[in-house]
Amino acid sequence: MGRCGYHFFIRHDGTIERGRPEWAVGAHSLTVNARSIGICLAGDFTIYQPSEIQLVSLEWLINSYLLHKYPLINIVGHSDTDSTQCPGILFPLDKFKNITSQLVKLIVNGRLVNVPLRIMDGRTEALLSDNWVQLRELANMLGADISWDELTRTVNMSIK
Ligand SMILES: [Zn+2]
Repeated sequence: MGRCGYHFFIRHDGTIERGRPEWAVGAHSLTVNARSIGICLAGDFTIYQPSEIQLVSLEWLINSYLLHKYPLINIVGHSDTDSTQCPGILFPLDKFKNITSQLVKLIVNGRLVNVPLRIMDGRTEALLSDNWVQLRELANMLGADISWDELTRTVNMSIK
């Protein structure tokens, strides 16, 4: 895997392997190498579908790892950044792109705060020292104003 251009590689059997370290610039997409994490799934999805277990692994990698570490990422297909058929018509790209449309941003006193966020039962929660904390509850505790902007999916908090 030493020369692998990607950061993660997912085998047919669902095994996730690391390629380049995340801090290293990838060689997976000319236009966005310097500002993206490359994930490659073994297979040719112009001809056949990825295996079920490969997709489970990919979903795990994105939801349970990457989105926690990099909460503001967008998910794009190789064909969105380079002129290529990759990942292929039989790869469910839209499903994975939709994962990030659920993403939420948190802005406190005008500054973007980089913490993992999630929506549970319609409430936005932030991961603060290993606990998921409801933002509205937190705002109440701090006596802060809180508002939600649907268009940009942003929680705005202002602490006086
Ligand atoms: Zn590709």
